[in-house]
Amino acid sequence: MFFRKNNKEKAAEMSTERSEKQKRGYEELLQGNRDWVKNETEKDPEYFSKLAAGQEPDVLWIGCSDSRVPANEVTNTRPGQVFVHRNIANVCVHSDMNMLSVLDYAVNVLKVKHVIVSGHYGCGGIAAALSNQQFGLIDNWLRHIKDVYRLHSNELDRITDEKLKVNRLVELNVIEQVYNLCKTTIVQNAWREREDLEIHGWVIDLNSGLVKDLQVTAKSSENLGEIFKLDESRVR
Ligand SMILES: [Zn+2]
Repeated sequence: MFFRKNNKEKAAEMSTERSEKQKRGYEELLQGNRDWVKNETEKDPEYFSKLAAGQEPDVLWIGCSDSRVPANEVTNTRPGQVFVHRNIANVCVHSDMNMLSVLDYAVNVLKVKHVIVSGHYGCGGIAAALSNQQFGLIDNWLRHIKDVYRLHSNELDRITDEKLKVNRLVELNVIEQVYNLCKTTIVQNAWREREDLEIHGWVIDLNSGLVKDLQVTAKSSENLGEIFKLDESRVR
């Protein structure tokens, strides 16, 4: 006799299939970790004891949370070489304690020599900021990018191709975030003490994998607007 599964049975089967798939996805991560440990240990038996001994990175990477732009892979560097902070659309907000803590630790404790703000073309966060659609809580974060748009609206409004407009805002956003870092007390005080701290702006092109250096490297507070330059002495 032909037996037809009822909806309840079908739903139960689908749910088992889904949970199996989810379990497999999770297990793959743990297996990936074991494979990584095995590969590294085969190449260098001391690898993990050296890694555990401490870090001396020269670089702080401030990039987008997008899963396609991991700092180490993009720069072909190894664990221990790049200190990393990531958020949606690589924004540096001067009241963001998370970003400021990372910056302060990287600049004053690790003494990194390069801070790189790295955006990427086709950034979903930038595209969302250019739209009028509501996405939820993130809309409040994206307001920082709408502010960047407001500063450059004359240039951006002349671009009719939406893709090109997003990509130009990606570049302008990186440049503004580089300036935002330069305006912090952390960077300005560090520049008074040492000459080897540089702030760079990059954009990654995911079509080629290549980085475009936006040539906005800052090495001193020289080019900051007068209002942002801070005196050495603090108010007591
Ligand atoms: Zn992005």
